[in-house]
Amino acid sequence: MASVFPAQTCSVCENESAGKCPRCRNYVCMEHYPRHSHEPCAKHIAQRQEEYVCYICGEAVVPEQWSAAIFAHYIDNFSCAGCGRYVCEEHTRRRSEHIKIAQDTMRSHRYNIVERYCSVCSSVRIFGGLTGAVWWAAGIATVIITGWFLYHG
Ligand SMILES: [Zn+2]
Ligand SMILES: [Zn+2]
Ligand SMILES: [Zn+2]
Ligand SMILES: [Zn+2]
Repeated sequence: MASVFPAQTCSVCENESAGKCPRCRNYVCMEHYPRHSHEPCAKHIAQRQEEYVCYICGEAVVPEQWSAAIFAHYIDNFSCAGCGRYVCEEHTRRRSEHIKIAQDTMRSHRYNIVERYCSVCSSVRIFGGLTGAVWWAAGIATVIITGWFLYHG
């Protein structure tokens, strides 16, 4: 019986694909998995170079992704998981990895996703990142102001 699901080929070359790029959703082989190795991701990074900088020091960051095996991929966007801004290695205060398993027609893929937190988000992480902390602080302020008016009014 002929194979029902022929192996997907890479969008750049003829090699068997190592899964989809999480950004552009194209099938790419291990060699072309990094974002600068295939279109439209390479073009995107080249065109928006000014966006890919650490928001603290302005140093250029290069989002990385690579395949360690045809089913195992590593993704490091160099962006803070709390506020979404890019942070360089030096300004990453906390770094962890989480693993996501995704299934395609051929096999299941393991994605090791690097999670970074900048110094601001690292210290307020317990409140759900920067946005969470702002709301939390706003809530406290409201309570204090209300209390003050009740007391002095
Ligand atoms: Zn390829
Ligand atoms: Zn891509
Ligand atoms: Zn920096
Ligand atoms: Zn942050």
